[in-house]
Amino acid sequence: MRARLLTIDSGYVRPGFAACYLRVQGDEAAYVETNTSHAVPKLLEALQAEGLSPEQVRWIVVTHVHLDHAGGAATLLQHCPNATLVAHPRAARHLIDPSRLVASSKQVYGEEIFEKLYGEIPPAPAERVRAVEDGEVLELGGAPLHFLHVRGHANHHFVVHDPERDTVYTGDAFGLAYPYLQRAGRFVFASTSPTDFDGPEAKRSVDRIRELGTRTACLTHFGELDEIEAMAEQLHAWLDFSQELYERIRELPPQEREETAYRALLGHMEQAAQRRGLSLTKEDWELLSLDMRLNAQGLAYAASRNR
Ligand SMILES: [Zn+2]
Repeated sequence: MRARLLTIDSGYVRPGFAACYLRVQGDEAAYVETNTSHAVPKLLEALQAEGLSPEQVRWIVVTHVHLDHAGGAATLLQHCPNATLVAHPRAARHLIDPSRLVASSKQVYGEEIFEKLYGEIPPAPAERVRAVEDGEVLELGGAPLHFLHVRGHANHHFVVHDPERDTVYTGDAFGLAYPYLQRAGRFVFASTSPTDFDGPEAKRSVDRIRELGTRTACLTHFGELDEIEAMAEQLHAWLDFSQELYERIRELPPQEREETAYRALLGHMEQAAQRRGLSLTKEDWELLSLDMRLNAQGLAYAASRNR
């Protein structure tokens, strides 16, 4: 019986930035993560290269509703007539009615950049969306997929345990590990981007994933990686630092929080990389500074929310 797992580079922002997965079991297929509508042709090509038709896609799974994960879900659904879109209960309603999601993103990015990054986001028909509870199991070609709710990065996030392939699809709950930063060994850091950062919950989520005991984890940013224990330790350290920083900036005037967090995160990144023997180039920093900016915004947002 055929059991395949393909990593597809969505091409979003740059190569090696945002992955989607195609999982084939027997004569059924599932996508995990869809990226944006711009990635849909690539996703369908990968299916065709495996000798499968869109009719054979049973599930389209999104770990959470951030647009680099779920922006293309409804468009992909239109191409796969027998597929059901699978999401966290708190994410499902935003897939069925994306108007709020789209409006808030347009507010952040502006109309033009939004169009370039995300393209079209049609509503998904409610009858084709399935919300899964914590601990629920779905089958793909006779193999189980286990869904586990995890908070800390987003309140509407789950991960998917795939025992048949001995892996887990982690979305953003097991950090970011870009290929270009793995040149001195495993290097991973947490995403604390807006709007749901919760340090203790994020650590619990890391532990929940680690305790599955899989050989690998499939990160959206980016790829299927081993050395789970080492990754969990790095993520704990990063989240401890983020939690301390969050507590520190909570005491500051609101207008100072983000910049203070941003500078501290740049310094922490430098140290964390050095500790692993990774010297960061100017090109590395161009991308990392974007992530540290998002992380700082997430901490500042949490500080304003919980005051
Ligand atoms: Zn996210």
